[in-house]
Amino acid sequence: MNHSSLDSHDGDAPIFAADAFRLGDEEAALINKARRFGARVLSVRAAQHDRDATFPIENFRDMHPEGLLRICVPKQHRGLGASFRTYCLAAAELGRYCGATALSWNMHVCSTLWTGALADDLAMSAAERTEHNEKRVAHYRRIIEDGAIYSQPFSEGGAAAAGAAAFGTEAKPVDGGFIVNGKKIFASLSGAADYYGILCTERAEGEAASRRNTLYLAVPAKAEGVSVTGDWDPLGMRGTVSRTLLLKDVFVPESELLMPHGVYFRAATSWPHMFLTLSPTYMGLAQAAYDFTVKYLRGELPGTPPVKRRMYPTKQIAVAEMRVMLEQTKALWFQAVSEARANPAKEQVLRAYAAQHTVMENANALAAKAIRTCGGQSMLKSLSLERIYRDSRCGSLMLPWTAEICIDRLGRETLYEPGEKDE
Ligand SMILES: Cc1cc2nc3c(=O)[nH]c(=O)nc-3n(C[C@H](O)[C@H](O)[C@H](O)COP(=O)(O)OP(=O)(O)OC[C@H]3O[C@@H](n4cnc5c(N)ncnc54)[C@H](O)[C@@H]3O)c2cc1C
Repeated sequence: MNHSSLDSHDGDAPIFAADAFRLGDEEAALINKARRFGARVLSVRAAQHDRDATFPIENFRDMHPEGLLRICVPKQHRGLGASFRTYCLAAAELGRYCGATALSWNMHVCSTLWTGALADDLAMSAAERTEHNEKRVAHYRRIIEDGAIYSQPFSEGGAAAAGAAAFGTEAKPVDGGFIVNGKKIFASLSGAADYYGILCTERAEGEAASRRNTLYLAVPAKAEGVSVTGDWDPLGMRGTVSRTLLLKDVFVPESELLMPHGVYFRAATSWPHMFLTLSPTYMGLAQAAYDFTVKYLRGELPGTPPVKRRMYPTKQIAVAEMRVMLEQTKALWFQAVSEARANPAKEQVLRAYAAQHTVMENANALAAKAIRTCGGQSMLKSLSLERIYRDSRCGSLMLPWTAEICIDRLGRETLYEPGEKDE
């Protein structure tokens, strides 16, 4: 029997207690809603989607009436108006119970966070602002009224996803819209999303490709020329179903622009914390590895015999070390997600890289330590820890801020001011 659905989560305390972390009432209520939803709904279904590598579409259908699909839609557009930080804390709570759902939810929510609170914080001309406010209404309406799901495929297998080159997926301007051609790899929610939030390069005939001309376009999944290919049988995050998306002469109307021309590039350069949004899932997985260990050593993990292992000093030391690592991770990450804003100071950007690196690396380090500490029975597939271990391994690979790229930038940007060179 598979017991992972029985790991009891009834009494789980919030990862970030409202009074200790001074969260507002509305913020705390939204985060609690996510935690309760994760414990009640996601934890029950996670094992099967992991085993079968199937997309947990029913989780997204259940999120709709809960309001979780519109968590970051601005209030004036009938959303819940969650800020960047509120979203991050809520996503961490979901990640605790199902990494794949939390990561896929991130792709959906970013289509509303980036076009919502983040865009509202960006400098735009009056004309751009008006255009943006008019266009986003249609996207939000689909989400609110129809439960539409958006995804966020930007990876292409080249240098573009790391921000080092223009996207190879191109949008040629034509009458009333664009003809889009290209290929996206690791397109989470492939085959499940209603709209793919594609990043591509707007390029007229004879024009050179430039990152400044990046477009953020919602491509309807049913549009002619859109197809999903390849299989999906990865180590972890199996429920994200991140297969390859092909776009062949797809006509996309101008109305599907998620940001006005040129605004995505402005966002990527002046709101860098937008790339920190992949980390909340892994913050949740770090907490889950720790929670599992404490319950297991106390002999309180449902589905396992009530054998206590907490009396051995080696276990106590291991739990203490895990707690130190978890608290360090939480503190740095909470600071970074709290200070996200347009045009952050250099110190804040460096801290964001450090936070991303810390969460992604520590989530997997905690899961590995949890298995080593709890012992052989804890890594059986009938328990959730084995899945947490595999899911958490994926965090440091996520572009554009992989653990390596964070280290690379931290070192260089600490030692060099912009424009500085060695003779
Ligand atoms: C479970 C899962 C879900 C995903 N979902 C999505 C999704 O929905 N949408 C999406 O767009 N992508 C998604 N990704 C893709 C992810 O962001 C990566 O693009 C993907 O892992 C492919 O990376 P790669 O091995 O091809 O990277 P490569 O480009 O081959 O890079 C390999 C490594 O080299 C380093 N590197 C790369 N470029 C640079 C550089 N310029 N400077 C220094 N170092 C560099 C990085 O550390 C990187 O990890 C997902 C990945 C996973 C694992």
